[in-house]
Amino acid sequence: MVDLGQRILEAVFPRFCVDCGVEGSLLCGACDAGWNPEKPKVLESEEELRESELRKLWALLPYANPVARELITSWKYNYDQSAWEILKKRLAPQLATFVLTLGMNKVEAIVPLPLSKQRKCERGFDQAEEIAKWLSKLTGVPMMSLLEKRRTVGHQADRSVEERLAAMVDSPFSFSASPDPSSCPQRVLLVDDVWTTGATMAAGARTLKAAGVEEVFGLTLARGK
Ligand SMILES: [Zn+2]
Repeated sequence: MVDLGQRILEAVFPRFCVDCGVEGSLLCGACDAGWNPEKPKVLESEEELRESELRKLWALLPYANPVARELITSWKYNYDQSAWEILKKRLAPQLATFVLTLGMNKVEAIVPLPLSKQRKCERGFDQAEEIAKWLSKLTGVPMMSLLEKRRTVGHQADRSVEERLAAMVDSPFSFSASPDPSSCPQRVLLVDDVWTTGATMAAGARTLKAAGVEEVFGLTLARGK
């Protein structure tokens, strides 16, 4: 049963299918049934993997697929949680193989690549964290928030020139040992929403490795521009 608040919300802000435009939901039944996105390419060459600092990267959807892109955009920029519900339902079946592979690699923790606290506050949620929570539930591997986004703006005035330069070349992330400083996991899965150049993921992976993590695997919802 749809609750009253949801009904009112839908009457005021009607949703339209991202594929055919029909009013009702973000992906109508017909388009959902007909949606068959190709599998995206994962990082394969040794050079790509070395640059990414990752042992392996899985991307669940190709960003070039218009339906995938629209759903991710609706979730990320229009804060439409129903887009995430559609994505989760759609991705669950193909995750079986992934879960098996992940288990074979003995991954001990799922780590979201964090937004800054300010961005998370503005948006009300952090996509990478939502993806990590979902994966954690599916795999039974615990989520650990081992990374924090550094504040680079706002405190610039208090910094010396040297400190500002250091902040510019350093990783945008710092290691947060908040869960348990004594037990740093050896193998982790780093999670983000979209992989474009891979620079942010590489920075996160470097920070984790510097803190003692041995191998970093990566997963994103989509890959592409
Ligand atoms: Zn449709």
